[in-house]
Amino acid sequence: MVLRASGSTLGRCMCIITGASKGFGRALAHLVLNYLKTGSVLLLVARSRPLLQQLKEELLQNLKDMQEITIFCTVADLSTKEGVEDTVAMARQQSLKEIDHVLLINNAASLGDISPFENFTELERVNSYLAFNVSSVLALTAGMLQAFPPRAGLQWSVVNCSSMFAVQALPSWVLYCTAKAARDMMFRVLAVENPNVKVLSYAPGPMDTQMQEDIRRLTGIQYHLHPCRDSAAKLMRLLLDNDFVTACHVDFFDL
Ligand code: NAP
Repeated sequence: MVLRASGSTLGRCMCIITGASKGFGRALAHLVLNYLKTGSVLLLVARSRPLLQQLKEELLQNLKDMQEITIFCTVADLSTKEGVEDTVAMARQQSLKEIDHVLLINNAASLGDISPFENFTELERVNSYLAFNVSSVLALTAGMLQAFPPRAGLQWSVVNCSSMFAVQALPSWVLYCTAKAARDMMFRVLAVENPNVKVLSYAPGPMDTQMQEDIRRLTGIQYHLHPCRDSAAKLMRLLLDNDFVTACHVDFFDL
């Protein structure tokens, strides 16, 4: 799928997608490839080596003639210090090349336990969820900002994969809602702190992914699902047009 938009490319870009092995992240990786200029680097991050490797092969087959894009897979568990550091280190190694855009898509997340509020008495259980879904996003983004310091002439964009549950409270979803709300605020702080970084919290809508399979299994709720590529296309249009207000929360259904 190739979109028409006012900005036709993302430029010579260092693009990092977390949670690229499946679902929305995988669809984004396929789409983003169409908009990377020659010399760009695409860094795909997840825990599953075979799925990342398979994705890389698919992407290499889809490269257009003369389009030279370097694609790296980083097998990393972003719930760990090592996983975050390895990902930043892998990106940093690429910083020698001249780039005009850094695009970090913080997509990886987990659903966590769906259970009434009073069941979350164990600090470790809560901390473990927040470590991956909140803390690692902060540490990874901070690491990337250090690796590629924002400066005049360098476009810097961060996408936070958010959810309607960042703004709407849902019974028994305290972990997920809390993490998504925290992430939205985290990036609002980044935006006011650093006007050279453009921030977007994008709620991708209900999509046909592993996460939705888990929701169905755990709650019995069957949402009307959209293909990941439709939501990825809406996000890509926002990024290409680049006229969204920094730090805004945009929902799939608003577009
Ligand atoms: P998904 O199908 O569960 O995929 C999650 C991705 O994150 C996978 O690539 C997974 O790969 C990776 N991941 C999970 N744990 C990880 C870890 N510890 N370290 C590194 N990578 C990890 O999720 P999705 O449905 O595509 O959701 C993508 C984003 O959209 C999430 O932020 C989600 O909250 C948000 N969202 C989804 C929906 C929906 O309907 N699906 C709706 C609203 C918002 P590995 O297992 O290989 O690590």
